[in-house]
Amino acid sequence: MPGFTIQQPSRENSLILDEGPQKISKQVVIDLGMASLQAIGSDHICKVCISNSGSCCSGCRHLSDRVGCQRRNTSCTAWLCGFIKYVLYETGYLQQWNDFWEQVPGQDFRVDYTPDSFSIHHSLKLPNMRSLSEALAADLQELAQTHIAIGFILTLREKLDKNIDQFMFYHDEPAKQARIRKRIEFLSLPFERFHLALHDFMEKRSALTDEKDGLSS
Ligand code: SF4
Ligand code: SF4
Repeated sequence: MPGFTIQQPSRENSLILDEGPQKISKQVVIDLGMASLQAIGSDHICKVCISNSGSCCSGCRHLSDRVGCQRRNTSCTAWLCGFIKYVLYETGYLQQWNDFWEQVPGQDFRVDYTPDSFSIHHSLKLPNMRSLSEALAADLQELAQTHIAIGFILTLREKLDKNIDQFMFYHDEPAKQARIRKRIEFLSLPFERFHLALHDFMEKRSALTDEKDGLSS
């Protein structure tokens, strides 16, 4: 859900659990989710999406003009649109995101029935990928300006969403996944800035991993 609705930016964007289930409060989970969206850089993408009439908060009774969301809940924090989902898909963090939120009970549409505290066992730890979202936002802005079709980027968002969901669903069918991956590649062909930023991000991440492996060996 749109980054501009952040009202209480939290300090931590990672939660690493020791083995076994751990009690956690609903508020901590929401704060963690909001901080993670900040680390993803969703606000960059939301700005472009909203200016193209794509806000996913549109028409919600909890949305206050110029203030933002008045009822932040677990459901809206967990939910990802096609664009944000795409960033996590390409960086390989989507499964971790899904696993984390699947353990949070009581999610519904624009409201939650999540208890004040509950047990979880999956961690959530995302690196800073704001440069990726900034690059994708610039690509989307350019696409929106150069395509005369109204809502072009919003249609693209829905197609990405659908295909990535299918990709995740067929996790044990490699042939199907390969076909879906091709479709996602085709849909994302115009994201030139994003792909450059992704290349950079992956190189830095693998250099960090090599460094850590070197230290521990
Ligand atoms: S649909 Fe996605 S990009 Fe658009 S405002 Fe909602 S979260 Fe942001
Ligand atoms: S409760 Fe409404 S305004 Fe708040 S994030 Fe969800 S959809 Fe947006």
